[in-house]
Amino acid sequence: MGILEGKKGLILGTANDKSIAWGVTQACHREGAELGFNYLGEALEKRVRPLAESVDAKFIEPMDVGDDASMDAFFAKVAERWGKLDFIVHSIAFANKDALKNRFSNTSREDFQLALNISAYSFVAVAGRAAALMQNGGSMVTMTYLGAVRAVPNYHVMGVAKAALESSTRYLAQDLGPDGIRVNAVSAGPIRTLAASAVGDFRNLMAKSARGSMLKRNVSQEEVGNTAAYLLSDLASGVTGEVHYVDSGFHIGAGDPGAE
Ligand code: NAP
Repeated sequence: MGILEGKKGLILGTANDKSIAWGVTQACHREGAELGFNYLGEALEKRVRPLAESVDAKFIEPMDVGDDASMDAFFAKVAERWGKLDFIVHSIAFANKDALKNRFSNTSREDFQLALNISAYSFVAVAGRAAALMQNGGSMVTMTYLGAVRAVPNYHVMGVAKAALESSTRYLAQDLGPDGIRVNAVSAGPIRTLAASAVGDFRNLMAKSARGSMLKRNVSQEEVGNTAAYLLSDLASGVTGEVHYVDSGFHIGAGDPGAE
């Protein structure tokens, strides 16, 4: 029997089969969960629907986390279809490419707000709506990166957003803990995905992260997915407010992913 048998959960942020959310999906499906998915817009439905259907998902609906009405409509459908929810995976981030290319000190107010809104506030907005459906407790996991706590070259405003995301994880854990809801973040090492392609010199970052790590290699979507599945399951019943690194141990070393 799988560790998520009998649980219903939402996977938010699948773009394609390279997405970290897809690694989490495969682990959760293997462990017996019933899964629901969002997609951002009609054009992206074509990519998400076949993937979701390949893991027997029946709940596949649009949701833009930048739009409250879209979020309300999505969660109303979850309530109608499932009535309850056991877990959510938030695997969503966005920043304007220019904000990652230009000098950090030139970040515009608009780009700062956009990155923080979609990449950090959206977790709070999703958590509040999901918690209302978690009558028997639940588990929430978001995806973060080392750039939250170190100044990683080219990560810029996304690092600030990840710092806000990690702090939000702790405050959500405090707020929702009395309701039996656990909230954790997985800090993944660099993985080649659509979102990652916006980060300048990402190839170099990956090479340096592998060299500076304890395992001397980068991690896979599957490894991140397996860790998320554990945090979502009752095996992690005593764990909340945590930032759990899945980065081949890079963060404990002295290596800077951007250093020569
Ligand atoms: P990805 O496949 O591009 O996933 C990012 C997802 O965010 C996409 O599904 C994207 O949807 C979605 N998204 C963006 N704006 C949205 C909005 N307004 N409403 C709803 N969804 C929206 O890239 P990923 O690397 O797997 O990223 C997933 C998470 O992992 C992110 O939080 C990222 O920061 C984090 N992370 C990534 C790495 C890495 O090296 N790749 C490392 C650590 C942490 P569309 O594609 O449909 O626009």
